[in-house]
Amino acid sequence: MHSVTVRDDLKALHGYHSPQVDVRVRLNTNEAPTPPPAAWRDAFAAELSRVEWHRYPDRTAADLRAAIADMHHVRQDQVFAANGSNEVLQTLLLAYAGPGRRVATFEPTYQLHGHIARLTGATVIEGERGPDFTLQVPAALDLIRSCRPEVTFLCSPNNPTGLVEPPDNVPALLDAEPGLLVVDEAYAQFADWTALTLVDESLPLVVTRTFSKTWSMAAARLGYLIGPSWLVAELDKVALPYHLDAAKQIAGRLALQFQDDMDARVQQIVGERDRVFAALAGMALDVVPSGANFILFKPRRKPGRQVWQELLDRSILIRDCSGWPRLADCLRVTIGTPEENDEFLRAIGEIVG
Ligand code: PMP
Repeated sequence: MHSVTVRDDLKALHGYHSPQVDVRVRLNTNEAPTPPPAAWRDAFAAELSRVEWHRYPDRTAADLRAAIADMHHVRQDQVFAANGSNEVLQTLLLAYAGPGRRVATFEPTYQLHGHIARLTGATVIEGERGPDFTLQVPAALDLIRSCRPEVTFLCSPNNPTGLVEPPDNVPALLDAEPGLLVVDEAYAQFADWTALTLVDESLPLVVTRTFSKTWSMAAARLGYLIGPSWLVAELDKVALPYHLDAAKQIAGRLALQFQDDMDARVQQIVGERDRVFAALAGMALDVVPSGANFILFKPRRKPGRQVWQELLDRSILIRDCSGWPRLADCLRVTIGTPEENDEFLRAIGEIVG
């Protein structure tokens, strides 16, 4: 027998768990329901054939960063890209959290914020949201002033609730000196507010984004942040050399040439979201307003877990949040194609009445 043991602080942690089940209608992981445009696939294939595979890729991903910077009207040194926004978050937390430091979250929110913070050895301070899942600003300010976190997270639209942060909340939190304020905007294109306009060299504020949702590129694993250049310079020290492979750099840069397709896709999904919301609101369900591409709801007359199982029995997979802290009986459905949404609505209508 060997005597190797994992770090004591990791023993109590569980890994990320989202079942990948083979079903007819998959509405559980907030992906886009349709692939990127065929013209993007062709352009990508053409450039891939010219990659010098025996060489390391551009370590600074300069062309990709420049394209992202152009899109957001910021400087290239205010952009940091990584393998999914999860790796952006990990790099941020390696740089600014770690042992002896504190990270504040307001629950319920995206589980990976607290999880990755704990992996770095930081202490996570979980603030509570109100019963309607909104941020309680006075309580949040109290928590920040008493705990003095090095990093504070917001998520807008928030996963898994779908709620968009009211615009005044970010300046209010910044005034209380929350350490580094990270606004996770994985779903921001589906909403009518972004914190991007607030990013400034003089503020400890970063906004994270992903190619996984609106850009229909979850398989590519690409995300980025916009923040002050002094922060990006620190992240460049923490990221592994050549962490963005050549294919991904090309995929991301080319995707941004199809902004109109992305906007049209987002509009279509937002229209479907509003249609699904209205239909669910007419059933025996409590439904949370959403600015994202998913909707959180709670059956009134049956346990959430049972409703989830009855959907799965019809080969429709949604996210079972019913066992998560503060989300008893809650389920989350991703907006799919109109046909998938119809099928989901028909099934849930039969199940909950
Ligand atoms: N942030 C939030 C709020 C998310 O919901 C997700 C995806 N589930 C991510 C970040 C990570 O996205 P990715 O790593 O695919 O960019």
